[in-house]
Amino acid sequence: MPREHDSNLVALPEVAGKLITPRAPAVARVVGNETCTYGKSNAWVRDIAVDVSGTKLAGNFRVGQSFGVIPPGTDEDGKPHKVRLYSIASPDTGEDGQGNVVCTPVKRTIGEFDPLLAGKRRAHRGMFMGVCSNYLCGLEVGDEVRITGPAGKRFLLPADTERHDYVFFATGTGIAPYRGMVMQLLKGPNGPTRRDVWLIAGAPYTSDLLYHEFLLEFEREFDNFHYLQAISREPQAPGQTRGTYVDGLIVSELERLQPVLARPSTLLYLCGVAGMQFGIWRRLALLGLLDGYALPRRGIDETAPAEWTSAQMRRGLKATPRCMLEVY
Ligand SMILES: Cc1cc2nc3c(=O)[nH]c(=O)nc-3n(C[C@H](O)[C@H](O)[C@H](O)COP(=O)(O)OP(=O)(O)OC[C@H]3O[C@@H](n4cnc5c(N)ncnc54)[C@H](O)[C@@H]3O)c2cc1C
Repeated sequence: MPREHDSNLVALPEVAGKLITPRAPAVARVVGNETCTYGKSNAWVRDIAVDVSGTKLAGNFRVGQSFGVIPPGTDEDGKPHKVRLYSIASPDTGEDGQGNVVCTPVKRTIGEFDPLLAGKRRAHRGMFMGVCSNYLCGLEVGDEVRITGPAGKRFLLPADTERHDYVFFATGTGIAPYRGMVMQLLKGPNGPTRRDVWLIAGAPYTSDLLYHEFLLEFEREFDNFHYLQAISREPQAPGQTRGTYVDGLIVSELERLQPVLARPSTLLYLCGVAGMQFGIWRRLALLGLLDGYALPRRGIDETAPAEWTSAQMRRGLKATPRCMLEVY
């Protein structure tokens, strides 16, 4: 039975959750590990495919959900490492069509050690290497991996996909669920959808775009799928000194995006870097397009949208059922 979220507006499907818990993780097997950036990139992101057959995750996940990974070993307090979540980038039927193989883009967390990011941990001058992302990216095909999940009940395609149009915004690995959603909508059992599907992907450099060729191929094949890229650190036209962020693209592509964003049937999906929603919400408010996606709470009305700070928006705006948010 679909769940009605708000005044019959968006019915989401019932989904399974926490079938495999961190207390009793299941063992899956890596079946793919390939780079998924576009050419030579300074970011290391690998598409990791995992065979979950024989576990409770098999056939029991929906695109938009995540699964957990528990890296081996212990943290600096001697406690077993905690679970980390990774978005499923496959459609409901998985990569194999049977719901047995899921993939996810894993970005290596790596950089010079930064005490501000480290919180209470001891400062040093070495490199910081995220535990789980580097573990996953280093796995070989055939290696075992402990998994949990599925997780997430809100960042989903609606139960009736033909009642809606879609605008997907991604930054970085936030593209993951959209790879699966685009496959589900255009090549899934009920597809291809006749509704409009827009995907706006943000990355610092063109070479950081994930699944780029795969998505370009979809755009060539389906007239109602539109794939735009916002590259923030490369000028995109002669005379420009800077690039653009995903919210800037709303302005430069307003003629095409305004009609779809203004449609009451449209669902807005935001996935990626924590805080990305604020730039998009502010921009939509400035253009008179925020209605239906975020509700103002007491306090924010007194300030003009151009002046809204992230802190104000965190307190003063609430996503409506037409705005799905997955930021981390
Ligand atoms: C719903 C959801 C979906 C997600 N999907 C994906 C996905 O599809 N792909 C993906 O790659 N990730 C995804 N993530 C993030 C993922 O769960 C992990 O958080 C990420 O891989 C980092 O884990 P790690 O173990 O490598 O790093 P950790 O060892 O956990 O280290 C990360 C922590 O270290 C700190 N830190 C970071 N850099 C530094 C530094 N230079 N110096 C000091 N401290 C630092 C940060 O504060 C951060 O909290 C998702 C998260 C959520 C919640």
